[in-house]
Order: sequence, then structure tokens, then C-alpha cells
Amino acid sequence: MDWIRGHTIGHGSSAAVSAAKSRLSGEVFAVKSVELSKSQLLQKEQKILSELSSPYIVSYKGYDVTKEKDKLMFNLMMEYMPDGTLSDEIRKQGGRINEPLIGYYTKQVVQGLEYLHSRGIAHCDIKGQNILLSKTGANIADFGCSRWVDPADRDGGAEPIGGTPMFMAPEVARGEEQGCPADIWGLGCTIIEMATGGSPWTNVTSASSLLYKIAFSGQSPEIPKFLSLQARDFLNKCLRRDSKERWTAKQLLKHPFLEESNLNSTSTNQNFVTSSPTSILDQDIWNSVETMDSTILQEVSSPLQRLRDLSSNSGELNWRWNDDQMWITVRSSNNE
Ligand code: ATP
Repeated sequence: MDWIRGHTIGHGSSAAVSAAKSRLSGEVFAVKSVELSKSQLLQKEQKILSELSSPYIVSYKGYDVTKEKDKLMFNLMMEYMPDGTLSDEIRKQGGRINEPLIGYYTKQVVQGLEYLHSRGIAHCDIKGQNILLSKTGANIADFGCSRWVDPADRDGGAEPIGGTPMFMAPEVARGEEQGCPADIWGLGCTIIEMATGGSPWTNVTSASSLLYKIAFSGQSPEIPKFLSLQARDFLNKCLRRDSKERWTAKQLLKHPFLEESNLNSTSTNQNFVTSSPTSILDQDIWNSVETMDSTILQEVSSPLQRLRDLSSNSGELNWRWNDDQMWITVRSSNNE
């Protein structure tokens, strides 16, 4: 092994991420690891990430297989992002980010999405926890649910649905399709996360009722009234229920909300951040979502069942809570 594994930085639903250091150059990087026998999804993530090169996407640094404590591990090496996730940042700042900073992060995420979508790749799990921060701003990370939009010549067929129900677009919740427009919906939900510190959907008691609401209620998440007219209009373009009416990343880059967002990275300090002592983070929404944890495995009503049916060849769906138990990630895998 020509690198040394350091401390664990994060645990996702599928893998552990550690800091690492090259023995040769001393360079520090991040390594996402999983046992080789369970690494099908991480290997797909590696394939996708290795094709990408953008200042708005976490950089790929290679992969290898190591033997550690008698186990073969598959390792995906990436640029180390020292400043945590966008969700961490929202929490650090008391639960809300103000509008100039929302515009700054949003513009970078949209630039990343525009790049990704122009290469025929949909991320499929856009949310604050998958946006990593560094001095230069926001980078899209965690390509574990990503897919080639036209998989015919890549994976030999349609791919299962994945992602995080709280951020799922209506067409995904209905099990119809999951492509680039679903990332734009996820972006809209992430902007609400930044503006309120809360979830895009409130008063949800179970994953199945949440999915049902997203799929069939005809509603979109409520757009915070305290945002400017331009920000609200931008959100409205992201949260169109009809995926064909949703704006593309390319169109969104020309929206006045982003065109006028000119914060540079050196300006992203606390001057732009509201300190909101009574953020929604303190409120019951998080507790009520947490209750899904115990019920979710038993409670498989029709929308969930449909997701399960659509999700994988083996019919296996892995429901897991991530670290802070606020959002769940749905993934399908044939080998877990
Ligand atoms: P999820 O359950 O959200 O799908 P996952 O198992 O796919 O998670 P990641 O989201 O890729 O794992 O990573 C888990 C955590 O590790 C992140 O939330 C983040 O805190 C940390 N992390 C991931 N990649 C990096 C990186 N390149 N630099 C620094 N920290 C990182």
C-alpha cells in the first residue's frame, strides 16, 4: 500500500470515508472504502467519477484494492474536502444561510450539474449532505446513485431507482423515470434546506406517506416567503412537478437569481450568514422523521412497494438512515 489510512471522516449508508496520505508525496486525500465483495456500487461510482473533471465536482484521484485485517478492500481516492458538507455548514451557522450565500453555493452546484448533465450523467441524490465544501466553494460529491441517462451502451439496460425520498422528484417517487430533471428538483429541495434549515416536506410521519405525497398530492414543497422575488422564481422553476416544464441547469445559469450572484469565495464568511437562534432544526420535524427509522422496515405500503419492485433485479432495497438520522437513502444493490 503506497498510502497510509488516517482517521475516519464520515460514514455514509454504503461506505466509510477516511483521510489518507501518500507515502511518496505526502499528499493528503480522501478514500471511500468498502469490502471488495460488496463494492459493486462503489466500483460504478469510481467509473463515473473517473470520467469527470470540473471545479464543481469533487476530483477523482484513482482507485486500488488493498488487504487490511485479512479483508480485501476496494478504495476510491478523491480530493480531500476539508470543510464538511453543506448540511454541516447550515447547522454550524445556526440553521439558516442567507440569500447571497445561498446564491453563491447554488450557482456552483448548478455549474456542476450543467457539466454533469452535458455528459449524459444524472447524479440522482442531490442534497446538502452530498455537497462538500472547501475554500473554493461547493463541490458535488457521492456519485453512488448516479447513472448514465442513456445506459443502453454503458450498463446494458435500465437502471434501478435510487436516492433520498425527502429529495425525490414526483416522477421518481412514482417509479416512472430518474434523469437530469430529478437533479433539478433535488437542487430546489436543497435550496429550501439552506434557506430554512428544514426539510422540503413537513408533517411527514413515514417514508410511505412521504413518497405518496410527493408522487400523487399534486403539491410542490412550500417556497419560503421571506426569500426575494428572484429567489422564489428560481425555486419555482426547479420545483415544477412536470419534469418537462422544469428548467434545465443550462437555463437556470441564465436566471437573474444566479446571474446576479457574484459573491466570490473569499466573501463566504460569516458576514453573509444569518444567525437564527430559533431555526427549524430545533423543531419536531426532525423527531417525526426519526420515527420512520423504527417503522420503515415493517411499513411497506404501495408506493414503497413499487419502489422496491422497480429498484433492482434482485428486488433487494436497502433502507438506511445516514449519520444524523434526518434523511434516508434508498439504494439497490445486488450484492449486499
Ligand atoms: P450516503 O449515505 O449519503 O449515500 P455514502 O455512503 O455514499 O453516503 P458519502 O456521502 O460519499 O458516502 O460520504 C460520507 C461522508 O464522508 C460525507 O457525508 C462526508 O462527510 C465525508 N466525505 C465524503 N467524501 C469526502 C471528501 N472527498 N472529502 C472529505 N470528506 C468526505
